[in-house]
Amino acid sequence: MARYTGPVCRLCRRERTKLFLKGPKCMSQQCPITKGRLAPGQHGRDRQRQPSEYALQLREKQRARRTYGVLGKQFQRFYRDAARRPGITGENLLAMLELRLDNVVFRARWGSSRAQARQLVRHGHILVDGRRVDIPSYRPRLGQVVSLHPKVRSLDIIAFNREHLTREIPAWLGVEDQGASVRVLTVPLREQIDTEVREQLIVELFSK
Ligand code: SF4
Repeated sequence: MARYTGPVCRLCRRERTKLFLKGPKCMSQQCPITKGRLAPGQHGRDRQRQPSEYALQLREKQRARRTYGVLGKQFQRFYRDAARRPGITGENLLAMLELRLDNVVFRARWGSSRAQARQLVRHGHILVDGRRVDIPSYRPRLGQVVSLHPKVRSLDIIAFNREHLTREIPAWLGVEDQGASVRVLTVPLREQIDTEVREQLIVELFSK
């Protein structure tokens, strides 16, 4: 179950946009993007130039991948799966990424970032229909209830997040049990996903 373990602000600088990978720091003046830092590396300044069509498509894919913390091979599998489903491939892809268990935990405001949400899942703090699931890529089905394990509801970090995070919980999740559980009501629609990704460019990249 591999994951990226390098410096994450560098990823935002490379994409030249906020990917919100660090929780509270992303909203502060300490964020390198807010400070106007350039793309990383020796040629960071060169990367400010007008990119080619291929570069635009590639960057869009990387942006989506990095936002959701998915590695390359896994992202390709997501794409193949999305292309097989009826409907618009780009929207299917985003909906599938949104439905990952770590993202559901993030959307439910139990984790301040997707990385923290992933850790909550890996540490066995999350239940799906009452059963512990510790696989971040698990996709809960419609109607299933994702909840915090009763033992961790009063954990400092979770209590802090539930009290202080102001992100809106999306309408495709129904809040239950005073915010300690969420039910997957529908497949997320594109307009309910606030991730700034032009999914059509990703589809064009993979269709080559
Ligand atoms: Fe990205 Fe957050 Fe780091 Fe800013 S603070 S560069 S948004 S991870």
